Amino acid sequence: MEEKRIGVYVCWCGTNISKMVDVVGVAEEVGKLPNVVVSKNYKYMCSDPGQDLIIKDIKEHKLNRVVVSACSPRIHELTFRKALTNAGLNPYMFEMANIREQVSWVHTDREEATKKAKSLVLGAVARVAYHEALDKRTVEINPASLVIGGGISGLSAALEIADSDKKVYLLEKEAQLGGHTANIDLCFPHMIPARQILGPKIKRVENHPNIEVFKDAAIEEVFGYIGNFNADIMANGKSRNIEFGNIIVATGLKPFDPSSVDLHGYGKLPNVVTSVEFERMLQSGKIETKDGREPKNIAIIHCVGSRNNDYHEYCSRTCCMLGLKYANQLRTALPDSNIYEIYADMRSFGKGCEEMYAETARRKIMFLNFDQREGIPQITKAHPEDCCEMLIEMKERLSNTNIEVPADMVVLLVGMEAREDARDVAHQVGVSKCGNDFFIERHPKLDPVATTTDGVYIVGSCQGPKDITDSIAQARAAAARVLATITQGTVEVEVTTAVVNEDICCGCQTCVNVCPYTAISYDEEKSVSVVNEILCKGCGTCVSACPTGAIRARHFTDQQILSQIKGLMTTEMTEV
Ligand code: SF4
Ligand code: SF4
Ligand code: SF4
Repeated sequence: MEEKRIGVYVCWCGTNISKMVDVVGVAEEVGKLPNVVVSKNYKYMCSDPGQDLIIKDIKEHKLNRVVVSACSPRIHELTFRKALTNAGLNPYMFEMANIREQVSWVHTDREEATKKAKSLVLGAVARVAYHEALDKRTVEINPASLVIGGGISGLSAALEIADSDKKVYLLEKEAQLGGHTANIDLCFPHMIPARQILGPKIKRVENHPNIEVFKDAAIEEVFGYIGNFNADIMANGKSRNIEFGNIIVATGLKPFDPSSVDLHGYGKLPNVVTSVEFERMLQSGKIETKDGREPKNIAIIHCVGSRNNDYHEYCSRTCCMLGLKYANQLRTALPDSNIYEIYADMRSFGKGCEEMYAETARRKIMFLNFDQREGIPQITKAHPEDCCEMLIEMKERLSNTNIEVPADMVVLLVGMEAREDARDVAHQVGVSKCGNDFFIERHPKLDPVATTTDGVYIVGSCQGPKDITDSIAQARAAAARVLATITQGTVEVEVTTAVVNEDICCGCQTCVNVCPYTAISYDEEKSVSVVNEILCKGCGTCVSACPTGAIRARHFTDQQILSQIKGLMTTEMTEV
């Protein structure tokens, strides 16, 4: 039997871990375990010197397994696996114990925290003893790409890829390209006409030799995996199958419908309009009430449907700036009007936005503040003898006074929400949704455009509300990722997959039904289930559901998990 030679490294993470965990003590204690050849503590394990320490020890002490006790594996598992590879060791002979997020950041008693950290490291040491070398697998990449959505994000992503001489299929649900940007008059903060940004892009996409555009189109089904996807699509009443290696989802979002906000009277009071309707008014060049009058008093109400527990808790990110843009456009178009900016909190982040806020404040705009928790402004019809058509009742937070604001027109800055078809799209391309139905990225900071399905990227507002600048940045980032895989020609795929032992599979097909990635099929001839190892994400669902124990998850075997549990529960250092 192979001798187990384990190296253990306990990280300080500066003071992040060391302030709450006796890292020196943990390393010393763990060093007493039978198979542990070296056990060290170090300030920053993920730093180059930290990794070099591991590489040097692997070579010097002939280590064949490594445990790093540090932060979450989501952050640095890959870093350390690469270090093992650089030292000539299989990267799967590695285990990470999370003593930062799971210990130092969540405990206040140093002694108890140290005890818990020790248990986690013992569990990792016990587990790594049963790790097996896994070989990496690669698949070839079809150089064509599918972009779903012809708004500003989809157009930008498609152009970026097509300009690199690679084929793009661009699929748009509507009859026209452009998405929501096509409905915008001027873009904040520089007040550039949206058509100046959008028009040339649409023209280039429609005439680009490498882009095939499908309008009025819908996806029926997507098959395959990274590098080798294909889809049945319906475009101009015709069905077609297309093949591609990567997918960029840029399906956008939709505006919140304020009809359900009773206090705002939308749909009942004729001159209460949404920001979407007001943009149309601005594009037409006519700002007037329903009966054709020039409004004297105009109120702009922020956070309609956003940052409110009754509707959406999240901030829609673009409305504050939209409100400031409207105030400026109104001041220019109607110099003698009274303009009221009724806001909850002004969120003018982004380059040039705070400056625009300051500039707007100098243009005789009345800023009135309300507290969402104390209720939203209520719009009522004014009495005939009043000077205006409507009155807005609100408690002004800064002066702590109940006031009535006169209005002939009210613009509701409606929030943004996920599209109704988000569920279908998520199912078709295999991405997850958050509680608000926006698509979830692989990692919010470290991998914001990839998803947990290899080869599928999300860009623009289908991932969460965002402005044009951020949407384009994301689109180009995803395009760069796609181009990188195309250039490589092949891509590594997950090796921690499930595998069926045909000798004990009874053919019940329970696994086929539970697999969330449709990675298992049934072989009629052999009467057993078969895992498509490219599609399998190693989630383990089938393993726990299989009644005969015929499915085994590589890297998460029963022996590995049971020994980890035993290690966690060990009290004596000699027991593991
Ligand atoms: Fe901090 Fe993780 Fe780096 Fe250690 S490995 S220094 S815990 S980030
Ligand atoms: Fe499907 Fe998960 Fe089983 Fe893989 S491990 S076959 S993804 S259920
Ligand atoms: Fe075979 Fe298990 Fe799948 Fe049933 S659940 S078909 S026994 S692998």
